[in-house]
Amino acid sequence: MKYLKIFLALFLIAGNFVTVSLKPQKVTRTAFLLDTYISVTAYGKNAENAVDKAIDRVAEIDGLLSCFNPESEIFRLNENSYLKVSPETFDLISRAVELSKKTDGAFDITVKPIMDLWGFGSENQSTPEEDKLLKKLALVDYKNIILDKKEKSVSFKNKGMKIDLGGIAKGYAADCAAKVLKENGAENAYLDFGGNVVTIGKMPKGLLGIEKSRSFVIGIQDPLKERGEIFEKVTAKGENCAVVTSGSYERYFEENGEKYHHIIDPKTGKQPKNEILSVTVVSDSSETADALSTAFFVSGEEFAKTKKDLFKEVIIYKTSGEIIKITGEK
Ligand code: AMP
Ligand code: MG
Repeated sequence: MKYLKIFLALFLIAGNFVTVSLKPQKVTRTAFLLDTYISVTAYGKNAENAVDKAIDRVAEIDGLLSCFNPESEIFRLNENSYLKVSPETFDLISRAVELSKKTDGAFDITVKPIMDLWGFGSENQSTPEEDKLLKKLALVDYKNIILDKKEKSVSFKNKGMKIDLGGIAKGYAADCAAKVLKENGAENAYLDFGGNVVTIGKMPKGLLGIEKSRSFVIGIQDPLKERGEIFEKVTAKGENCAVVTSGSYERYFEENGEKYHHIIDPKTGKQPKNEILSVTVVSDSSETADALSTAFFVSGEEFAKTKKDLFKEVIIYKTSGEIIKITGEK
């Protein structure tokens, strides 16, 4: 009996060892944060702890940046038109303003009063009346954000101005979560924050029966098909790879047979008229890719071609079905 027990114990240990050596540990956690479903997957022995810490970090960022949470810095800033903020929020707003400059204002976080008027996702979503739209449009201009570096305060030149980090926050958070994963020993990981994908390292061997580790492959949603149906694949290059998509199919409502989506041209307060269904940006920074995918959705492919220094690749899906690929220089 004693020998049988020892044999069984050895068998179980060996069994575990074999499982570990053939199949790397894989941990996935999902959460609803930043107004979207986020999922973090990491591989290896440190995966569990690393993934938990990464999710905690995203929850912390959500607490700072959500413009719907009365406790958040952004909510309080919007209410008071002035706030001393954390260095983290200050730096992100500063970089968002830089990205507005680089995109000639196609990306502009001061679109919030216009977003409120359209009311996407709320009970009051509808096409705004023209005079109301024009009034709110006068409040949209990133140049009227005042950043005091010394005091770490943000204020607005005009009363009624408000900011919305929805076009960059997911990208920023995915970069931060990736950093936390690495700091906690996860060498290979895959993060998906509602269309913002970041990969770290490679898909380890042993996974899905693969014999050698290999690059992650990211599928891009076909804007005209069911969720999960892809029209293109991007192979992740480099230690960190971000693939971010902005699409008109993500958030919209229908009125009198017309679809109205959530990406707004800051110059008109309306959906851009450029026949684009989705824009995907590949970069090593998910934050930059996030802002750029929103900006190029507004300003179109000709503009994107003048900004090749900012990205690795851009893939644009037009309403005609045409797919335009632009190779960047970054
Ligand atoms: P994304 O899905 O990253 O393209 O971001 C869309 C979200 O960003 C919207 O839901 C708005 O919160 C915000 N947004 C819409 N239009 C713009 C714009 N032109 N510039 C910056 N943020 C925008
Ligand atoms: Mg974006």
